[in-house]
Amino acid sequence: MLLRRPDHGNGASDNKDVILLQLELLAIRALEGVQLEGPEKDILREIRQENQKGDQEEPVAKAVRELRQASSKTVCSAEWSEDEGLLRFRGKIYISQNPDLRRRVVSLCHDIKVARHPGRWKTLGLVSRNYWWPQMSRYIRQYINTCDLCLRMKPIRQAPVGELHPLRISDSRWDTLSMDFVVELPLSSGHDAVMTVVDSVSKRAHFIPTHMTVTAEGAARLFLHQVWKPHGLPKCVISDCGPQFVACFTRELYHLLGIKLASSTAWHP
Ligand SMILES: [Zn+2]
Repeated sequence: MLLRRPDHGNGASDNKDVILLQLELLAIRALEGVQLEGPEKDILREIRQENQKGDQEEPVAKAVRELRQASSKTVCSAEWSEDEGLLRFRGKIYISQNPDLRRRVVSLCHDIKVARHPGRWKTLGLVSRNYWWPQMSRYIRQYINTCDLCLRMKPIRQAPVGELHPLRISDSRWDTLSMDFVVELPLSSGHDAVMTVVDSVSKRAHFIPTHMTVTAEGAARLFLHQVWKPHGLPKCVISDCGPQFVACFTRELYHLLGIKLASSTAWHP
């Protein structure tokens, strides 16, 4: 149990009628006390001029109308306020639909030397310290996506491309073959695809009727009867049917030929 001296109050009314943090201290005062110079000062002047033209997005224009209908212009609505010709949304200066003005503001935060072309989110953070307009995030993303220097300095995240080595082709006939499929053919004797096997040396070919649904195992059986029988086992079969297809094809062909594939560890001491 807490002991309390009898001459002390219970503290229930300590904060009564006392506002510890004045509301105005909490308001965001963008650019307050900051001496603006150079391009930003010009931009602010132009923002004021643009506001007088009234070229605003409809939701903004509606908010401004409501704000100006209020009894006193110094009265802040929940989110909008207007002072010295500047419209503010949640304390941030609104920039009207002038593409040049918006571009210059983003450029100030993104292109200057000290900023060193920061990324999307950092640029958004810098711009949104003082400014706001609808879909500002999207605008900044587009700005950075088309920034010439950013595009040129973009790090390449892919592994470097290796050198292309031409395939070594044997001098003997039917040692190196290329295998491919021609598919979606008009149905002929129940076949709608052709498996082509071409000898890389003589350029002679076998065209074997088959189906589009032929599996790697099925292709191996066709190969056995149509290619292996007259020409024997090739040293190399080139195919762009995908590594899985080629692996299944080879396994089945070896199986049909009675060759046993036994895998071991890659290196023996
Ligand atoms: Zn950039």
